[in-house]
Amino acid sequence: MRDEPILHISEIFHSIQGESSYAGYPCLFFRLSGCNLRCSYCDAKYTYEEPATPTPLDTLLTEAARHPKALIEITGGEPLLQVGVYPLMEALLAAGRTVLLETNGSLSIARVPREVVKILDLKCPDSGMAEKMDLANLDLLAPHDEIKFVVSSRTDYDWARAMMTEHRLAEKAKLILSPVISRLAPALMAQWLMADALPARLQLQLHTLLWPGMKCGV
Ligand code: SF4
Repeated sequence: MRDEPILHISEIFHSIQGESSYAGYPCLFFRLSGCNLRCSYCDAKYTYEEPATPTPLDTLLTEAARHPKALIEITGGEPLLQVGVYPLMEALLAAGRTVLLETNGSLSIARVPREVVKILDLKCPDSGMAEKMDLANLDLLAPHDEIKFVVSSRTDYDWARAMMTEHRLAEKAKLILSPVISRLAPALMAQWLMADALPARLQLQLHTLLWPGMKCGV
C-alpha cells in the first residue's frame, strides 16, 4: 500500500484572490510552509519561522470539496519545496478545479502540470534575490500563466522593463507589476507604466486594501 502524501501547511483559509488576473474571485488558499529565499520585503516570514502543521493530502482535498466553487491557490513560502505538492495539484485538477500556483521563481516548474495557472515571481534587485532566479522557467510557461514583478524602486522597475524586452516576456505569459506600497507610491509607478506603455498590468494587493494590517488568513 502506498503511503498517503503529507504536506507541511502553514495555513488554510478562504478569502478573496488578491493578486494575479484572478484578483477579486473567491479563493481557497493552501499556504505551504518553508521557503528557500529571504526577500528583503517578505511579509510571510511566519511560513518559515513558525512551525508547520503536517497534513495528509486527503484532508486538503476534503477542505477543497467544502468550497466547490472557489478557485484554489497553492502558495507559500515556496510550495515547490514539498514533493507532496505534485499529487495535490494532480488531484485537484482531476476533481475539475481551477488551480493557481504561486512560486518564487527560484525552482524549476518543469514538473508542474500545464493546466495549473502558474504565477511566477521574477525577483527584482531590491528583493536581494534576483540572482536566485531560474530563468529556464521562462521557456516553460503557457499563455495562461503569469509573471509577477514586485517593484520597490525605479531601479527595480527599470530591471523589470529590461527583462520584458530582453526575454520577450509578453509573448510568454501575462505580465504583472506589483509595487511594494511601503517603498514605492503606486501612482508613481502607474505614471512610469503609462509613459512606457509596457504590456503589463499594474496590480495592487486587493487583500491588503480590504483587510489592512492583517498578515495571516487573507
Ligand atoms: S519568496 Fe515569498 S515567502 Fe519566500 S522570502 Fe520571498 S516573499 Fe518571503
